[in-house]
Amino acid sequence: MLADIVEHLACPVCEQPLRLDPGALRCPRGHSFDVARQGYVSLLVGSRPPGTADSAEMVAARAAFLSAGHYAPLESVLAEAVLASHTESFSQSPDGAGRRAYGGPDRGAGPVIVDAGAGTGHYSAAVLDAAGRGVGLAFDVSKHAVRRAARAHPRLGAFVADVWRRLPIRDGVADVVMNVFAPRNGPEFRRILRPGGRVVVVTPAPGHLSPLVEELGLLSVDADKDRRVARSLDGFAEVERRVVAFGLTLGKDEVRAVVGMGPSAWHLGAEELDEGMARVFPEGREKVTARAEFHLSTFEATSNAR
Ligand SMILES: [Zn+2]
Repeated sequence: MLADIVEHLACPVCEQPLRLDPGALRCPRGHSFDVARQGYVSLLVGSRPPGTADSAEMVAARAAFLSAGHYAPLESVLAEAVLASHTESFSQSPDGAGRRAYGGPDRGAGPVIVDAGAGTGHYSAAVLDAAGRGVGLAFDVSKHAVRRAARAHPRLGAFVADVWRRLPIRDGVADVVMNVFAPRNGPEFRRILRPGGRVVVVTPAPGHLSPLVEELGLLSVDADKDRRVARSLDGFAEVERRVVAFGLTLGKDEVRAVVGMGPSAWHLGAEELDEGMARVFPEGREKVTARAEFHLSTFEATSNAR
């Protein structure tokens, strides 16, 4: 897998191209990054304040929740939006006819999809499956998540990196950047996207997890969220927005998992969450219903100025 995508990567120290040697990625200046036994590569350099990356427990709970299919309706709409973005932007691109992302007839390659804040790679895998071709590059700051992402799909490469910082990706190589419940880095997204490339962003909508949010005493998604998303993508224009809503039927563990997956504002102390759980699940109650609601927005860079 790494051999197929290494051409898109840049050294996180000196920004030179990386090449794949046995067991490591290396740049011409001699910076070297080991390929872990699980197949991922850490391209994280320098120190980062602890506590911001997802723990092994959080990642495991999330993986179990997602693989149970609770968010399957979101996955199919996301795949559709990413693939449509790719097709539309390609047909509008002035140099579209002969461009590299298709890799020419010899490779039969499809889109290059960068998943910024990929978590376990679950959404990337869904998109790559739907695409039937193309490659994905998954980045997340949690090595626990990235370990799983490395096994999520045969056409997905997984890397530990910090989305807040410069991404270890070469200029203009991405056809689409996916950003699902993750931090956004507008200037970097702009740099790594090819001309006409798009960003597809998924955020929880204000009605997400109602009425659980109220019953558990969580803070709801703030109504200003969409404006903050747009601000974080300065230099991009929103070209499409969809609301994706569906029902959820959840047991106790699933409610805990979905709370852990939500905005940081939701993170309650363990005691408060236990109290809330006792209210939501009185004696004898096994399942609750809630509404899942997301905004899926597609953004395009407004000009090529960097
Ligand atoms: Zn280097």
